Parts: sequence; structure tokens; C-alpha cells
Amino acid sequence: MQRTGRVFVAGGDTLAGAALLDLLPAEGFANLIGVGADEPDLTDALAVNSFFAAERPEYVFLVGGPSGGIGLNRSRPADLMLANLQVVTNVLDAAHRHGVEKLLYLASSCAYPREAPQPLRAESLGTGPLEPTSAPYATAKLAGAVLCDAFRRQYGCRFVTGFPANPFGPGDDFGADSGHVIPALIRRAHEAKECGDSALTVWGTGAPQREFLFSRDLASACLFAMRHYDGDAPLNLGGGSVLSIAAAARVVADVVGFRGRLAFDSSKPDGAPLKALDSSGLLALGWTPATPFRTAVEETYHWFLHHATEGAAHAGSTV
Ligand code: GDP
Repeated sequence: MQRTGRVFVAGGDTLAGAALLDLLPAEGFANLIGVGADEPDLTDALAVNSFFAAERPEYVFLVGGPSGGIGLNRSRPADLMLANLQVVTNVLDAAHRHGVEKLLYLASSCAYPREAPQPLRAESLGTGPLEPTSAPYATAKLAGAVLCDAFRRQYGCRFVTGFPANPFGPGDDFGADSGHVIPALIRRAHEAKECGDSALTVWGTGAPQREFLFSRDLASACLFAMRHYDGDAPLNLGGGSVLSIAAAARVVADVVGFRGRLAFDSSKPDGAPLKALDSSGLLALGWTPATPFRTAVEETYHWFLHHATEGAAHAGSTV
């Protein structure tokens, strides 16, 4: 991958996209195109095609499409599935038509079957039913991975799929109802501290386990995969910390300075019992995550304090 190459981060407004747009210039990639207001609406096939025709990206990180936590997956399953299908079909089609050199598509670990053996390996994809709370979104992500593979086989396109661990970080969705667990808990813990509450509500039983990855480390894994991986099989992008939700909530409460107790709300869904990735393929190529979980939570809380606290008293608002 040439540092002078024309690089398009499709989905620059997402968590992974924002982290890539920070990382790439720092790594010497100065020729970024389609940044900010210049990015086409990825759900609009004509706009995407015109953009690729005019700008001729050589390397594409396809990290776009809306996503959210278990709450958003339950309240807006159709919106999430439709937009993600549109984004991946539009961008892959345009990338093929306009001769993109290489493309990395970011899928999601929720596209693995709910009961697949852990840690999750690429061979398990498509072998069983999905976790019902996120199945529509996950089906769209799985379709994207299959479409990348189909383009590889039929046209020899260098399209690679990455399956990331649960990412979080600065610029995340801190909505108490829409965000993923870490940003949602950061907001709720902050509000509980400010209000002097005695308890921090944590959804579900606290028993499920997740593999968390700091968004800056995810961006670094994406860039590494773009440079060093060109296999047919999807590549898991993890190697971060596997924690129970209860343990993760305790770290969040500690970092935020909330001294009360955790109150588990079992009327809320647990989702998948465990999601941990087998990232041995990526690690064997020489990549490792750089940021310990606690440090990542500290940086994320720092960002929240400086950017997202307006209206923090209104639980459910998003940033
Ligand atoms: P998932 O990996 O798709 O299930 O992603 P989430 O980040 O939405 O949820 C992960 C786990 O955290 C689930 O077991 C949730 O029940 C639990 N959890 C605890 N509190 C919260 C919260 O405030 N928001 C979300 N989204 N999940 C929470």
C-alpha cells in the first residue's frame, strides 16, 4: 500500500472511521479523499458511483453503515439492516467498477452464529442461527462478507473482510439507550455520580462476556490488514480484553468515580452469552493491540467529558 495512494474511508463519521481518519495522516497517508462533507451518501448508489468515477480511490476502508447497541438493534432492526445492505452493495459495486486496488470491509462479530464454538473462528460463519436481538443487522453484515468473497472469486477483486471485536472509544454513541455497553455505561455512571445516586443500572445479568477493542487499536488493525493480508478467509480483528459485563461496568464506575453499587436490570436482554474472537491469524502476522482496557476507558471518558456532557442529564440523548 503506497503512502501516496488515494485512500477513501467510507464511513468517516463512524467510530472506526473517525479513528482511521486520525491514524492514517499520522502514519503518512496524506492523500485522503471523500473526507467530511466530501463523503457521498453511502446509501445512495448514484452518489457513490459518481464519487468513485470522479475521485478514483485506490484503497478503500469500508467501515460505514449505522450500528448501535442492543437497544437500537431492537428498536430499529429494519433501518439498520436496510442501510447496511445499501452501503455494502453500493460501495463494493462501485469499487469493482472503478478498479479499486484493495478494499477492507469491516463486518461485525454479531454475524457469527450465537452458539458457535468460542473463541470464534471464520469457519463458523454461516453455520447456525444468529443471536435474535441483532439478527437483521448481523445478516446485512454477513451478506457484505459473502459479497466481498463473491467479488474475489468472480472478478479477482482484492476485497478483504475483517470481523472486529466490540469496539469503543472517543466519538462513540454515548446515548444511554442507543449506544453500545461501554459508552452507555460511561454516560449513565457519569450521571449517577453527578446526581448522587446510590446505584448504577447495568442491563441484563452482567454475566455475558465480550471482547473489547479500543477504536484506535481497531483502526490500527484495519490498516495492518490492508497492508499485510490478502487471503480469501475473513480475518478476525481482535486480541483485546475479554471481560464480563459486570467486570467491565466496575472498571467504568471506577474510572468515572462513581462509588455506589451496580444494579443489574434483568428485564433488559443479555444478548449473546459470550463473544470472543480467535484472532490468531492477525496476531501471527505480527499485529498486537496497544491499549489496555482501563486506559481505553479513561481516554473514552476524557473525550466524553470534553465533548458530550451537554445535555448529559437527559438520558437517552445521543451525540
Ligand atoms: P452486543 O455485543 O451486540 O450485545 O452489544 P452491546 O454493547 O449492546 O451489549 C453488550 C452487553 O452489555 C449485553 O449483555 C447488554 O445487556 C449489556 N449491557 C449492560 N448495560 C448496557 C447498556 O447500558 N447498554 C447496552 N447497549 N448494553 C448494556
